Amino acid sequence: MIELPKRFDEYEESRREGFIKIKELKDKGVNIVGTFCTYAPTELIYAAGAVPVSLCSGNQDIIAQAEVDLPENLCPLIKSSYGNAVTERCPFFYFSDLVVGETTCDGKKKMYELLKNIKDVHVMNLPQSQLNEHDFEYWKAELIKLRRVLEEKFNVEITDEKLRESIKTRNRERKILLEFYELGKLNPAPISGFDLNSAAEAVAFRFDREKAYEEIAMRTLELKEKYERELKGKKTNRPRILITGCPTVGVRKKVIDQIEELGADVVGFESCSGPKEMMELVDETMEPIDAIAKKYLNIHCSVMTPNPNRFKVLDEMIDDYQVDGVVEVILQACHTFNIESYNVKNYVANVKNKPYISIETDYSEFDLGQLKTRLNAFIEIL
Ligand code: SF4
Ligand code: SF4
Repeated sequence: MIELPKRFDEYEESRREGFIKIKELKDKGVNIVGTFCTYAPTELIYAAGAVPVSLCSGNQDIIAQAEVDLPENLCPLIKSSYGNAVTERCPFFYFSDLVVGETTCDGKKKMYELLKNIKDVHVMNLPQSQLNEHDFEYWKAELIKLRRVLEEKFNVEITDEKLRESIKTRNRERKILLEFYELGKLNPAPISGFDLNSAAEAVAFRFDREKAYEEIAMRTLELKEKYERELKGKKTNRPRILITGCPTVGVRKKVIDQIEELGADVVGFESCSGPKEMMELVDETMEPIDAIAKKYLNIHCSVMTPNPNRFKVLDEMIDDYQVDGVVEVILQACHTFNIESYNVKNYVANVKNKPYISIETDYSEFDLGQLKTRLNAFIEIL
């Protein structure tokens, strides 16, 4: 078995501290809403006076328990998240008063049916496409329904004024986090991809939001100063990698850390473990529900068909982050990303003329050796 390097993982640390904080919030009577996907409209949850928390799990240890109910050949993110629920090992799930899921992929939407045996689950029906007028109307109706569900569940009124307020706050947070992720555009990179990603994703478990984002803004400033002082104009022979594909929450060490150990820098993330959701703000001048519907529906994900925005963003990111090669991460049995990888490979290799590799993996350590060999060979050709 190959030993992965022991690195300080800010994400795991923050997640553990978040366990204590969420209990404190519950003790104060704050309502908690668990979410699974980037399409979850957090503005509505905050406007209901509740606190959203991500239930997407990267934990391998509970997958065997999940497989008692779920098929083995299923995305590890789905199995692990469900495992957290059945084993009561995740305080975020345990303390959630309501779980909001979206019908993003078949695995998730059928898993929610089982989850309903344990928790109050509200499922939002996500359109399959973003391009038609009726897709917008359909998604807007789902937001109106969620607004009503939250109002009834928590006995509150979600006024337009509260929504406008939470739109402003979330937009401010998005801008701060996006600027942090965009440190990857600097060449040479002032922070490793592992540290950048683990710090940015850790914010999701900081419930002292203002302080958490203030700290991220400070770090961005400090790292920009470090770049100007120590790195600007220096040459490095470490190739620059863009990660694309499925969320990397459960494979951060296995893939991102591994790539950096092998001598490349991960500088950008075109995935839900990156700035994808922050690239478009909610329009503060529009009617709030319309503006929220428009923003979230525009998120590009392989669950949409077709998915043209992903290629637009890939195009921009490969140029803006001065990328030398693209690594696509596909979680086992994720059909939408797996099939879309055909077009992604063609686009990266033939339109952008950059080397591309796709890795299909899960949260286990069984393929560590094979992964290392493939990544090493890929980095050597860059
Ligand atoms: S990859 Fe797609 S389905 Fe998965 S969390 Fe992101 S938006 Fe949701
Ligand atoms: S990675 Fe793919 S299969 Fe897994 S939850 Fe996301 S869309 Fe579904």
